[in-house]
Amino acid sequence: MARTHVVLLGPPGAGKGTQAKQIVDKYGLTHLSTGDILRDEVARATDLGKTAKEFMNRGDLVPDQLIIDMIRGRIEAADAGFLLDGFPRTTAQAEALGRFATIDVVLNIGLARDEVVRRLTSRRVCKGCGEIYNLTFNLAEGETTCAKCGGELYQRDDDKTDVIANRYDIYERSTAPLIDYYKRQGVLRTLDGLAGSEKVFSEIIDILTA
Ligand code: AMP
Repeated sequence: MARTHVVLLGPPGAGKGTQAKQIVDKYGLTHLSTGDILRDEVARATDLGKTAKEFMNRGDLVPDQLIIDMIRGRIEAADAGFLLDGFPRTTAQAEALGRFATIDVVLNIGLARDEVVRRLTSRRVCKGCGEIYNLTFNLAEGETTCAKCGGELYQRDDDKTDVIANRYDIYERSTAPLIDYYKRQGVLRTLDGLAGSEKVFSEIIDILTA
């Protein structure tokens, strides 16, 4: 595989987490999801977790420097390559990333606001293995256990309707400018998040193996 330093970009709910799992399984990259790392810090009630929780529950971004300090060592340790999921989310984060790593390709999964809202309100996540489900695709109403590991399914606090609107606004304001940022660097590839996850994944395979 030619491209081993990969960034996944896109609004919340576009399918980044779902694609990320499949990509790292296939290519053996290290999956670095800043959202997952932060949720783990919150669950363990670390100092970082306690600080981050306030921002996350409102749907706001955690301050850049905390995120950069949290992720930098993990990126530098990923010898076999990495897949960044949820980072960078601001121009300041992208500039910092550019100072300590090269990026081969940015996979930008696009999805319009109304579809983001629809998907996030119906998203459920497994407490045990992190598998992502959606009531509109692959989960029956009322089902509360994970088909893969039997763990309990839950709705993320920030997937509640009032927080979702804020998350999308922040995406548009702070993260969407990265589309042009990476276009200018010649590494951006855009995928249609409305297509089924299998179609998106097969396009990603084509891009990564090209
Ligand atoms: P995610 O799981 O990627 O949707 O992230 C959940 C929440 O974690 C976000 O709404 C932010 O509050 C926080 N977060 C995750 N990644 C970042 C990042 N790169 N910069 C700032 N905040 C982040």
